[in-house]
Amino acid sequence: MRVHELAKKLGINSKQLLAQLRQSGLQVSNHMSVLPPETIEHYLQVATAIKNKPKTTAAPARGKGKAKSAPGRGKAAAPSREKEKDKEPARARSAAPDRLVEISEGVTLQELAGQMKLPGSRLIKWLMSKGHLVTLNQVLEVELARQLVEAFGFEPRLSLLEESGEEELEREDEANLVPRPPVVTIMGHVDHGKTLLLDAIRSSNLVSREAGGITQHIGAYKVELEHGQVTFLDTPGHEAFTAMRARGARVTDIVVLVVAADDGVMPQTVEAIHHAREAGVPIVVAVNKIDKPEANPERVRQELVKHELVPEDWGGKTIFVDVSAKRKQGLEELLEMLLLEAEMLELKANPRRRARGLIIEAKLDRGRGAVATVLVQNGTLRAGDPFVCGLHYGRVRAMFDEKGRRLQEAPPSTPVEVLGFSGVPQAGDSFAVLESERKAHQVAQLRQQKNREKTLSKRSSRISLEDLHSRIEEGAVQELKLVIKADVQGSVEAISDSLAKLSTDKVQLRTIHGAVGAISEMDVMLASASNAIIIGFNVRPQPKAAQLAADDGVDVRLYTIIYDLLADVKAAMQGMLAPVYREKLLGRAETKEVFRISKVGAIAGSLVQEGKMVRNANARLLRDNVVIYEGSIETLKRFKEDVREVASGYECGIKLAGYNDIKQGDIIEAFVQEQVQAQL
Ligand code: GDP
Repeated sequence: MRVHELAKKLGINSKQLLAQLRQSGLQVSNHMSVLPPETIEHYLQVATAIKNKPKTTAAPARGKGKAKSAPGRGKAAAPSREKEKDKEPARARSAAPDRLVEISEGVTLQELAGQMKLPGSRLIKWLMSKGHLVTLNQVLEVELARQLVEAFGFEPRLSLLEESGEEELEREDEANLVPRPPVVTIMGHVDHGKTLLLDAIRSSNLVSREAGGITQHIGAYKVELEHGQVTFLDTPGHEAFTAMRARGARVTDIVVLVVAADDGVMPQTVEAIHHAREAGVPIVVAVNKIDKPEANPERVRQELVKHELVPEDWGGKTIFVDVSAKRKQGLEELLEMLLLEAEMLELKANPRRRARGLIIEAKLDRGRGAVATVLVQNGTLRAGDPFVCGLHYGRVRAMFDEKGRRLQEAPPSTPVEVLGFSGVPQAGDSFAVLESERKAHQVAQLRQQKNREKTLSKRSSRISLEDLHSRIEEGAVQELKLVIKADVQGSVEAISDSLAKLSTDKVQLRTIHGAVGAISEMDVMLASASNAIIIGFNVRPQPKAAQLAADDGVDVRLYTIIYDLLADVKAAMQGMLAPVYREKLLGRAETKEVFRISKVGAIAGSLVQEGKMVRNANARLLRDNVVIYEGSIETLKRFKEDVREVASGYECGIKLAGYNDIKQGDIIEAFVQEQVQAQL
């Protein structure tokens, strides 16, 4: 039996059935695919089960017709039962409005039925009426589960495996929470000593050195101190940080901003500040290279004050530590300060629950298969745990720390290298332990399916000038974030200031990053992560950045005149931004003779010289190269026949809409306006 045949038997369309089959893990390519007998049997069984069940409840519907012939009691009973059948869920709604149903990703129909204390068959029936054929122990898509739960008058409480650690912690019982080590990223300008500082911290880490083992690069490591631990992500730079954030992941609790005392604040220092601020991550400043004779830590402080990083001794809130990565000076103090900052942040986690985390890096290892470093953010990860991770799933076959030592357990804020993935995940992917590998597999499959759909809709959720106004009106946008790149610093500031002044009480314009230079991939990633638009003034995007912007649907606007820029943004805020149109010439015709017909007007007897004339196309009339008229072609005739178009080399009669003053020798141009994407 083929898919479409089974669909027909089940009374649903092939597309629905195909989706169902794929969801349950069957590889079917199209409606002509032949199905294995057990699948057919399974579906037919489910269908009969459903058919038999609803008969009892469906009966009253038929009774309605009979009710007409039996007035009195029947009439009264029928409509109420009818209501019951159609709006079955409505009844439940009135029963107890405060009942919560927990929907976690990977929830099965059975579990939902259990929570709602309703027979599974009723839920199956409802799903069936919506075109979903679902068995009791099948995992439901979260959105569908939500609809189902709401339809039955319950209040869904979503707990997504991909949600951020913070959202999850909000629901956590305070009593289960214990402090966890901070996760730190080192950022700063190139050559200011990020790599050396990380190395220095790692090698001065006495506790773990005693424990032995050769350091491997797994993307992160934990430093043990006397009164605590600090986890460092050891991919320095903004790329990792922003790439993670662009994927909706927040890994870092604290940013260490490294500034070389002999060089001071440089462009990437400023960029790092912007990135950290946007992510809402506190900054601890490490003034590095103080061993150098030309070092001037004081100047670094002064320069950073301009960026609102004011040292504590100067009455500010930012912790500054002078260090020398080369001489390993000040490292202990830096680590102590990180612990202090962490204490203020009150970082907590529940080590007793199933682990949740994030992928720091991942690779395909020839001998070991897909290997990834997981940063455990909450819960404790144990060897043997089944998990879902991004679009993949698996079971923890083995776990290692950065010294290559095998671990049985990884508590919160611990980075571990994990073996046992079904495929290579991406950095920033969420990682969550589930109760069974089977469930993990199903969730991964659902995600893959949704991923395909998401890629399509992702672009539409991005902010752009075109839909700014409607988004403001919807209340979906209160702030337009901007990334500004220009040819000179003066322009960056001028644009940023002028735009800020356009802010209204409905929408604030805020520059999250402004710098000199071409629009880079980093800019696009920042804009993508923050849902900002990019404004380029006298600069172009780098080819890769343009591609990334197109893929991610980030709005990039290029200008050479500030006035145009401001006018566009203003218009966009008022919902009056004109779409960009480009004229496309269809053809030209020369008027050979003019016919005047009463009640009709002037007809230009013309010869099409190039392209074609098209009825209803836009048209303009040129006389001695001057535009005399612009409008449209009202009628187009060949001999007496009305035609849609006339090609080059042919004669035709053209009547222009609302214009009769045509003269011999006039040129008629036909054209269309094509709406074009904003130029990249
Ligand atoms: P990154 O690009 O920020 O990762 O910088 P690196 O860690 O690669 O350091 C750049 C250069 O600065 C290297 O030659 C380091 O040896 C040097 N360097 C880093 N820290 C110090 C320091 O504290 N003192 C001195 N004198 N040189 C340093």
